[in-house]
Amino acid sequence: MGNSCKRRKWGSACFPEAVYICNMIRPDLLLHETKKGLYCPPGDFYIDPVRGAVDRAIVTHGHADHARAGHGAVLATQETLDIMASRYGEGFTASRQALAFGETVEINGVTVWLAPAGHILGSAQVVVEWRGLRMVSTGDYKRRQDPTCRGFEVVPNTHVFITEATFGLPVFRHPDDRAEIRKLLASVDLFEDRTHLVGVYSLGKAQRVIALMREAGYDRPLYIHGALKKLCALYERNGVELGELRPVPTEPGKREERDRFRGEIVLGPPASFNDKWGRRFSDPVNCFASGWMGVRQRAKQRGVELPLVLSDHADWDELTQTARDVDPEELWITYGREDALVRWAELEGRKARPLRLVGYEEENE
Ligand SMILES: [Zn+2]
Repeated sequence: MGNSCKRRKWGSACFPEAVYICNMIRPDLLLHETKKGLYCPPGDFYIDPVRGAVDRAIVTHGHADHARAGHGAVLATQETLDIMASRYGEGFTASRQALAFGETVEINGVTVWLAPAGHILGSAQVVVEWRGLRMVSTGDYKRRQDPTCRGFEVVPNTHVFITEATFGLPVFRHPDDRAEIRKLLASVDLFEDRTHLVGVYSLGKAQRVIALMREAGYDRPLYIHGALKKLCALYERNGVELGELRPVPTEPGKREERDRFRGEIVLGPPASFNDKWGRRFSDPVNCFASGWMGVRQRAKQRGVELPLVLSDHADWDELTQTARDVDPEELWITYGREDALVRWAELEGRKARPLRLVGYEEENE
């Protein structure tokens, strides 16, 4: 940057310390962390605020640790708005606005648009532009092809790239998702008298596992816990074919039903298999589809017999590849294990910093 730097005051009462550096506006003037989440002062909106209600929120996707009910206005993809309405009821916000991928909107002079993130149905990266500065906040994302949502798209000419880092350690390398599904189907063939209980979170993972099974040629009916029904129907309305799904009634199971599910595959939230609902399955094979199943200890703790390493988040290789593909001037790292990725970036000669956003949990994924 050196000699060409022009440092001058930007004469605004709101931002007395504002300066241009190398003709680039200081990025934290456009987006910075606050107690309520990532905030854009000139646009006066938040991205994925999770602590308390705000007047104006842009929501990247429908998972509960990004999308909360009660904001004054929500801007998101139509799919994300539908997911929020399905989970929280139609009154989840006072006003809502759908934005298609690539369509732009001006908010107090700030240009905003959405790019696909490849995480779950409707998931988006938020692109924010102001006075020549382009910042992109990914929300959650992955790079692998997923039959249930649009694939991640690299936004070119990004000055500041704010990336998630849920699996931001070099030990996290997710295996091939199709191979994980083949493992499940091979087990179903082998143990034809047992019921395979597949733990899946209800938004995203459930539909992806089902779609991958269909892609692999499994065309028998699949049994689903009632908690998955509404979201599976929503995916189907959005053109994701899931084949024949048979809900298992939500009342506690009866022992006499036990033979009914032999040889079948049942999907449900992981906790449901340990409660009264799960009693109807005898001699089940406990499976769990999650990125965390790559950690052997976690599978053991949960008593998972067949761990399926299936993640809707980028693994280490995807995170680092994405940083290279986007090639921003600055990399901001958040939602997870920031430090290893910051270190990696520094070794690569990239400017990087952790962004400590509060209120995000290790996602149920
Ligand atoms: Zn998510």
